[in-house]
Amino acid sequence: MKHLAHELIVSPGGKVKLADIDPADTHGATKARADLKLKKNCERLSVLQYLLYAEAKRALLVVLQGIDAGGKDGTIKHVMTGMNPQGVDVTAFKVPEGAEKRHDYLWRVHKAVPESGKIGIFNRSHYEDVLVVRVHGLAPKSVWSKRYDQINDFERMLAENDVRIIKFLLYISKDEQAKRFRERLDDKSKNWKFSQSDVKEREYWDQYIEAYQEMLRKCSTSDAPWYVIPANKKWFRNLAVSEIMLHTLESMDLKFPKPTADLKEITFE
Ligand code: ADP
Repeated sequence: MKHLAHELIVSPGGKVKLADIDPADTHGATKARADLKLKKNCERLSVLQYLLYAEAKRALLVVLQGIDAGGKDGTIKHVMTGMNPQGVDVTAFKVPEGAEKRHDYLWRVHKAVPESGKIGIFNRSHYEDVLVVRVHGLAPKSVWSKRYDQINDFERMLAENDVRIIKFLLYISKDEQAKRFRERLDDKSKNWKFSQSDVKEREYWDQYIEAYQEMLRKCSTSDAPWYVIPANKKWFRNLAVSEIMLHTLESMDLKFPKPTADLKEITFE
């Protein structure tokens, strides 16, 4: 079986079509085995995170995008759970305000890029500036259409400066979104997650799909690939994201730094 990282990657320059991807696909995995594998993956992620932190030369940036109720928060909760909080920074990007509005759109993003040794998780990202901004006409086309190239340049610069970047689009179906909204209304402990504006956004579903597709086609690069995660099944989503994060960290060939002194020579009372 091909590794999920190879199955789910959006080939750079390819003509990915979201309609051809089944959001309920589980790529032959079963829940029982996936749950066990996720547990193992989380343990291994924790080891690799420790190595990344010790090496302190490179960083990993994980970008999470997805339609409302797509599972960004759940992914962070379930996949990052074993990691040392000291080595992970999670940044959620909301509607820009204050100084954010007075700067270019990448300013707040660049500030949140993880430093060497750390893993940065973006809960939404600079891609909002070619998604919500495009769908709602918050900037004219002449402005947002230039951003695909700008984003590719920005991400290439980061990659050339020791930031590994992987990007996940959590892809659910419109029915699954309705099911999750209903849960938010029915389950008292989930009421707080419900927002009227999410229901309003649902009316723009097709426009979002179009915007996602263009984002995937233009901005999946070898420096910063996009992966489309079929996310109707939460257990598969968690498995897939953990597998791809592991695959990426394993490929970085992380090593403990050499001791700064000859340890055998050190004596103390
Ligand atoms: P969540 O990410 O959990 O849905 P919120 O309900 O606070 O959090 O939603 C954040 C909102 O901020 C989203 O509607 C998103 O589209 C919006 N947002 C994020 N970045 C931008 C941006 N650059 N321009 C306009 N809106 C943005």
